[in-house]
Amino acid sequence: MKNRELLESTQPIVMRTLMNSFSEHKTSHAYLISGQKGSPTKEMSYFIAESLLCENPNPGACEECLTCHRIQDGSYTDFKFFDGSKGEMLKNDVINLQFDFSQSAIEKKGIKVYIVHLIEFANGSVLNSLLKFVEEPAENVVAIFTTENISQVLPTLISRCQVLHLRNFEKKELQAKLMAENISSEDASILTETYSNLEDALNAYQNTNYIQIKDLVIDTLRMMVEDYDKLNFFAIHDVIPAVCGRGKQQLSCQLYLDLLGTSLKDVLKLGLGQELIFKDQEELIRQVMLLNLPIDKFITNIMLNEGKLKKVVNSSLVIDTIFIYFKNKGAQEYAK
Ligand SMILES: [Zn+2]
Repeated sequence: MKNRELLESTQPIVMRTLMNSFSEHKTSHAYLISGQKGSPTKEMSYFIAESLLCENPNPGACEECLTCHRIQDGSYTDFKFFDGSKGEMLKNDVINLQFDFSQSAIEKKGIKVYIVHLIEFANGSVLNSLLKFVEEPAENVVAIFTTENISQVLPTLISRCQVLHLRNFEKKELQAKLMAENISSEDASILTETYSNLEDALNAYQNTNYIQIKDLVIDTLRMMVEDYDKLNFFAIHDVIPAVCGRGKQQLSCQLYLDLLGTSLKDVLKLGLGQELIFKDQEELIRQVMLLNLPIDKFITNIMLNEGKLKKVVNSSLVIDTIFIYFKNKGAQEYAK
């Protein structure tokens, strides 16, 4: 789906403001796009950059011309993108950017644009250099910043920018976006429950063996019901090779744990008479509920261990720890 369609349906007010300013050629030299996690800050930053540089703006970006495509694939010379959350912007980058952007534009449009996505993650020295850059804007240079936490952005930076506040994605909207990407309704509801934004949800769906991992989660529940004492064997023989094996990205392990957490929350939901996320597994979830396991402790334990995934190189250790917890605490309470 094109960014413009997504933004017009989810951010109608900001889009109207922008379109008016584009048609009146009243653009700003610095934008700050603010939205909570889950709102399309990155999509908006790209859309503004493309609108400023597009060969056939109408008045926003056409998203079809060569320039729009080159911005998307990062090959347009007068455009730079930095992701603050990935530590992609160092002080040297700001110095290089200032140098490059003080030269005349290379592309014929004559405008240079840079995006710093999630500026709150940039360190102090980067911010100070950027601030100077924004305070003394070179001609025809446009800065676009995004943030998911505007309270962590320097007030002096905010005061230099036109601030665009985005609306949050509602769960139903996110689910509809996923279904528009040909994802089934059950999978869309699982992904919506597990992720708060479209990018993360699509990334998990497209860049892992999502279906296989979902089946593995269902098998884990089935194993709990059918042979609780063999859960550890199941972890070693089935789970670890599937999600932590050689060449497997950490993303697979994370998705497995996210979905396992979501499926266990369903056990609690069933007890409370709420609608399930794993809609097709109601009978299995009921059987897990009847085991009287300390499900809330299991969920907390999964979340705590999942946080270690970022630091621990060997993700199989994380799975191991969780299953040992299942075995010990679970078996203890189970015996009562
Ligand atoms: Zn275009």
